[in-house]
Amino acid sequence: MNKKQPLLFLFLLIILLSFKTTHHPPSHTLGFFGHKKINELAIYGLPKEMFFFYKENMDYIIEHSVDPDKRRYAVKNEAPCHYIDLDHYYNDENKPYTMPLYWQDAICQFDEDSLLSHGIVPWQVQKKLHQLTEAFLSRNKQRILQTSAELGHYIGDAHVPLHTCSNYNGQKTGQRGIHGLWESRLPELHFDEYRFYPQKAQYIEHPAQTIWKAVYESHWAVDSVLSFEKKLQSTIPHSQQKTFEYRGNTETNTYSQWYSQQYHQLLNGQVERRMKKAIACITHFWYTAWINAGQPNLQQLEDKSWREKLTISKTQKVREHDQ
Ligand SMILES: [Zn+2]
Repeated sequence: MNKKQPLLFLFLLIILLSFKTTHHPPSHTLGFFGHKKINELAIYGLPKEMFFFYKENMDYIIEHSVDPDKRRYAVKNEAPCHYIDLDHYYNDENKPYTMPLYWQDAICQFDEDSLLSHGIVPWQVQKKLHQLTEAFLSRNKQRILQTSAELGHYIGDAHVPLHTCSNYNGQKTGQRGIHGLWESRLPELHFDEYRFYPQKAQYIEHPAQTIWKAVYESHWAVDSVLSFEKKLQSTIPHSQQKTFEYRGNTETNTYSQWYSQQYHQLLNGQVERRMKKAIACITHFWYTAWINAGQPNLQQLEDKSWREKLTISKTQKVREHDQ
């Protein structure tokens, strides 16, 4: 046996286990396609002082919109930043309990580990907004771009109904796979039919309330997301529900186009509506951070990333020299 084989096996085992034990399925987080599109479209609502900068760096904003998903399994406590299981907080009347708007209040009221195990996306959005304001204040181009891209990601996740409940992949109701169907398959198949118009950036007076409102709206949509698909499952013959399709060179078993289309029709524009809201929300949040930082001139930003690197390498050289 090759010496490397046991190592390889261990590596694969770790990957498999991490997939099994982590809350959300790996590729099903608003899909890379969705995240990229909404980050891109959010740029068009910005005022001209911001628009030119974001447009110039559009490729970066798009490409890095998926960074938080890429590090989900590598960084501790990253996974809960993408969702919140509101049904965990239902009261006696089976309605979600009114949640604390701010993280500081949340950790006073609930145990931090428990909060983390049921997801923290609304608080994560607030944290990223703060970080973006800081990035604008420090006029750091690299940080502004990275944080904008990531803030867009978490806002996107907060607008997806299945990111707000524990039955996130229909696993409790015999609908396993619905997560990817709603947020990847449907937008990929129907994106060209959607009509997006830029929504002019607005200053958000109360960001915490705004993101919580978005999360509750997502949560109210969970019922139709699940019940419509359940209905279809029982009316469309099993053989017509799934099909084999090629993704690159890999053959995958996925929902058939016909089945997806029927589901999309039943949802009556829901995916498009949630995407539109997410896009506008991202525009408003980027704009709000910029206003709160005193509207820095984005045409005169210093690219500090190369400077930081230069300083580090210089210090290293000095150290090496000293040794
Ligand atoms: Zn995500």
